[in-house]
Amino acid sequence: MFTSSDALPYAERLIALRQALHREPELGLDLPLTQAKVLAALDGLPLEITRGAGLTSVTAVLRGGRPGPAVLLRGDMDALPVQEESGVGYASEIAGVMHACGHDLHTAGLVGAAHLLASRRDELDGDVVFMFQPGEEGQRGAKIMIEEGVLDAAGSRVVAAYALHVAATALPLGVFATRAGTVLAASDSVTVTVTGKGGHGSSPHLAVDPVPALCEMVTALQTMVTRTADAWDPAVLSVGSIHAGSANNVIPESGTFQATVRTFSAATHTAIRAGFERVVRGVADAHGVQVEIDYEENYPVTVNDATEADFVHRTVRGTFGAQRIFLAPRPLAGSEDFSFVLDEVPGAYLMLGAVPPGTDPASAPMNHAPQAVFDDRAVPEAAVALASLAAARLKQAAGLKQAAGLKQAAAAGPERAAAARQEQAAS
Ligand SMILES: [Zn+2]
Ligand SMILES: [Zn+2]
Repeated sequence: MFTSSDALPYAERLIALRQALHREPELGLDLPLTQAKVLAALDGLPLEITRGAGLTSVTAVLRGGRPGPAVLLRGDMDALPVQEESGVGYASEIAGVMHACGHDLHTAGLVGAAHLLASRRDELDGDVVFMFQPGEEGQRGAKIMIEEGVLDAAGSRVVAAYALHVAATALPLGVFATRAGTVLAASDSVTVTVTGKGGHGSSPHLAVDPVPALCEMVTALQTMVTRTADAWDPAVLSVGSIHAGSANNVIPESGTFQATVRTFSAATHTAIRAGFERVVRGVADAHGVQVEIDYEENYPVTVNDATEADFVHRTVRGTFGAQRIFLAPRPLAGSEDFSFVLDEVPGAYLMLGAVPPGTDPASAPMNHAPQAVFDDRAVPEAAVALASLAAARLKQAAGLKQAAGLKQAAAAGPERAAAARQEQAAS
């Protein structure tokens, strides 16, 4: 329905918006300047706009010219606590804050999709919900927006949801990637505190030493991972911090360690969490120490619905050409709060290369790096991709409904079938 050239009239404005967002990045759930820029950029479009209560989100609904279901497009808007060293002319003017994950491109791209879809509003077979989301980088903004009703913003539950993420590395400019099933890992963070009884290093029999218990927990956890996760559905557990005591001859009262856990399926996630708690409590019991486990599940596994991933692949190929999208062989070990959306409704997540031409994608600084550069030219491409996905998905839903209607009429007899065909030709 859309091609790259459809974005040309908007490209300059969208790139200016992207650069303005980049100059003034904001962190977390409270992005008032970003929200104001988005509202200004959507001004004049025929949208039903609501703002978040617990966060500075923007939800916009576009009503299509024909009746049909609703689909959702998401763009995250928050930046990172990173001091920019990219060297671009529109670098961050806020010390210690940078759009190092490219969410400025997502925001501008989603604004572009709203303009494109509004320009063909009459041809849309249903409604589009635009989800402008703060707090992706650890604050669960998507979950808060779900709680505030974004999935039902059009009056009925959206039938599909799509999100796009730009990459400063790996993918050449303008090349898309997606896959069916798991696309991103689940990530958990865990803090374990072990408490015994302090004493003199010369008389451990009078103390309850937490140090050997901590050491045994760390190594036992690595064994637990290898004995729990399927080799083809792996898990990663790393203890990145361990502390106890302050002197060579004093047995400390307590000690602590912190770990990150990455998994790629809900089943392995559940098994590893259960194994973690079992092993740590078991070792604590064996040593006669007390243990406290603070197990925080950050984001679940991001899973693309197989049918929707196939739809994304076909639609992007149809819009941009076969050489512009490929199916990724493996998930990435990063994580995403769009996972909360995909836990509720079918949909898919896709990546878009934004590596500046002349830079080797294999060695370009990656997302989150202070030197990461995302090329402006990815913005109109993101807009066209998102707009195409929404329009084509609504069209597909209308086609399926029409086919179901004809089938039902055919079952009711030849006269009803002829009447149904006539009705549909007239509509
Ligand atoms: Zn990020
Ligand atoms: Zn990101």
